[in-house]
Parts: sequence; structure tokens; C-alpha cells
Amino acid sequence: MSTLLVKNIHTLVTMDAAQRELRNAAILVRNNVIEQVIEQDSINSELSEPPDEILDLQDKHIVLPGLVNTHHHFFQTLTRVIPAAQNCSLFQWLRVLYPIWGNLTPEAISISSQIAAAELILSGCTTASDHLYIYPNGCRLDDQIQAINSIKLRFHASRGSMSVGESLGGLPPDHLVEKEADILKDSQRLIEQYHDNYRHSMLRITLAPCSPFTVSTALMRESASLARSFSGVRLHTHLAENKADIDYSLANFGMTPCDYVESVGWLGKDVWHAHCVQLDDLAIQKFGKTGTGVAHCPCSNMRLASGMAPIRQMLNYRVPVGLGVDGSASNDGSNLLNEARTAFLMARVRELDAAAITAREVLELATIGGAEVLGRDDIGAIAPQMSADFIAIDIDRIELAGAYHDLVAALIFCQINKVDYSFINGYKVVDQGRLTTIELEPLLERHNQLAFKLFNS
Ligand code: ZN
Repeated sequence: MSTLLVKNIHTLVTMDAAQRELRNAAILVRNNVIEQVIEQDSINSELSEPPDEILDLQDKHIVLPGLVNTHHHFFQTLTRVIPAAQNCSLFQWLRVLYPIWGNLTPEAISISSQIAAAELILSGCTTASDHLYIYPNGCRLDDQIQAINSIKLRFHASRGSMSVGESLGGLPPDHLVEKEADILKDSQRLIEQYHDNYRHSMLRITLAPCSPFTVSTALMRESASLARSFSGVRLHTHLAENKADIDYSLANFGMTPCDYVESVGWLGKDVWHAHCVQLDDLAIQKFGKTGTGVAHCPCSNMRLASGMAPIRQMLNYRVPVGLGVDGSASNDGSNLLNEARTAFLMARVRELDAAAITAREVLELATIGGAEVLGRDDIGAIAPQMSADFIAIDIDRIELAGAYHDLVAALIFCQINKVDYSFINGYKVVDQGRLTTIELEPLLERHNQLAFKLFNS
């Protein structure tokens, strides 16, 4: 058992039930769990024993819960800014990239996952979901799981899948799809081998057929029934991303995307869908009533000209909404603080209303909102019995000059892109702006060699 006291916090954003923001505070962590949130002035009377370790933030950091990323494709760090895909919309973009992704190897999955995770962590992310849906050349989800385990990011790994190739009317080339029986068998193996449903879990498995235009109706149904035969295994896919996605759904299933997912049992508290840019009002109401979550990915949606998701309406109907940076080839980054700011700006311009969303509401989406989308009540807030996942940002920086009137709102209004400290499950993964769990330089060198090889093979 060991304890850590983080003291002299300038401003502590708790995201607790009372939404408290404390000036001059401290946090006591025991092992991997937050034990106490303390007002700095009462620290001596509150502490029952001297802590084993102290981090003194010297009254110049804002501390908040670690951010939660609800949608990503880590492997795409290898295919950022591919020239032929720079100016494409979703389906064209996929058609350019599928053949390149067909050259992925287990090492490429592993190294790209660490690069994406490193970029996420440095931008404040402490829990991420990734959606890996392509498994050529012996690649397995295990490659990614091991890679992320070593960087110590709290992880929701998705066993993605594609089973309907071009010859059957789907989008991916036939040689990149898998047999549905193999997908289900591997999904079950992964759940049995890795899924940890206990509180403070560092690894959970999600089942995630890639999208309605890459898998069959049968696989959607069977994945749902397999996931629901285990505790805490959630379902995830891409939905209603752009107009072409809607047209595909109407032409192939005779239904809107929302009606389609309802027909295959994919509305519910254990389901979250990425994008949902093109959901109509009725669909949003259904999401709200059923507790179906949404991963909002504004950068990717703008990059691919997919549209602007109706986040204000979703929040009005109590749809659980989290943020996602989406794949690194459609963003083309993994910076979650930047994604939060973009979500803030996009909601305002979509509604043509400067009060459409507040900075604090966006911070909620990035923390407690993402936690709800991933089905977790142990992350997203700084309070007793929560996992010790929190980040600290030095307020003595150029981006915050002149913004001390409201430092909490400034996290979203101003352009903060990097954290100074990050703790995940009680472990210090960022110390004074540097990752502690991985050496970035050799990783970047190998990553860029692999990216070059992938593109040129
Ligand atoms: Zn995606």
C-alpha cells in the first residue's frame, strides 16, 4: 500500500456530483484510487498519516480528471496525409486507404498503437477506446493490447470486423474481409482472455463490427448476442457519418441508420455509435430514451466534409455524448484537448448561437461524458473511490496569458494542447511534460520507417 499527496493545486476541477471547482486544494491517492479531496487550508487536520510521496504543484497548476477518448483507429497514424486521400470524402477516402492498410503487420499495429497512445496521453487522455477492424498478415488485437499495456493507458480495445466485401456490395476489397464465423470465434476468445469488468479495470473488450456498409445484418445481431452473454462487454460501430452513409442504408436495408440499428438490437445503454452526424430529431430522441451513446468526432467530420453532428439536440434529449479524435488518418491527429476545443467551436457555428454550448459543458463531455459512453462510473471525476486518473496543466504559459479571470473555461477557449502531469491508475505517466512509460525517439524512428514501408509496398 502506498499513498501520494498532490498538494498546492491552484484550481481543482472535480467533475463530482456537485461540480465543485476548488481554489487551493489537494488530492490524496492510495495506490490506484482517489481517497480524499482536501481543501489546502485543512490539509494538516485532514491527513491521518504522512503520505509516502508528495507532488507539490506550487499553486500554479489546474488539475482535472483525465480525459476520455471514445473513438479512434490507432493504426492510422501510419497513413496520415496520404496525398491521394487528402481531398476525399468518406467512401473515396476509404477506397484509397484500404489497399495500403492491407499491408499492415503485427509490428505496425503495435508501434502505431503506442504512437497514438503517446499523443493522446500528452494531450490529457487517460482512457481510450480504439476500434481495430482490419487484420491482414497475421495481425491480431493482442498485438495492440500488449503495446498499450506497456504504455499504461487505460484501454477499451474493440474487436472490430469487416465481412462484406466489394463482390457482395460492401465497400472494402474482398481480400480484406474475414469470415463471420472466424470473427465471432476470435471475439469470444478475446473476451475470455482479456476482458476485466472489475472497478478500476485497465482493460475491457468491446465488440465492434466496422459499419453497416462493411458487415452483414447477421453479424450485427450475432455480435450483440455474444457481447450480451458477458458482463460489461459493450457494442460499438460507425453510424450515420455522412449523406452517402444514409443513402447506403436506405438502398441496402430500406431503413435509416437509426431504424437499421434498432432492427438489429443496437440501441441500448451498452451501445455507442461513432459520428451520428446525420441523425434526425426522431432518431436523437430514440437514442436519448434508450441511453444509446455517441462518440462525437468533430475534427474528422470536418476534415472529410461529413457535416456537423447535432450535439446540442443530443444533450437536450439526454443522449450520452463523449468525444473522439477518430482515426489518425482522418483528423490527422490524436490531440484530445484540441478535439474538445473543436467540439466547442463546431456546436456554436452549427447552431449559429454563441450560447449553444459552454466551455464547462465541453469539459463534461471530455471527462464524465466519455466515461458514461464507455459504461464507467469509476473514471471521469476526481472524488473518493474514483480511479486515480487526473491531469495537471501549468497555468504559467503563453496560451493562458491574460486568461486568469476564468482558468477553467480557458482550458477550452484558449489553445492548450499539452499537459504537464498525468496520472493513470495512480501511476505518473507524464512528468513535467514528458512521458515516463516509453522512450519516444526510437519509437518515432521505427514508426516512420514502418509508415514509409507501408505506403511503398
Ligand atoms: Zn472511425
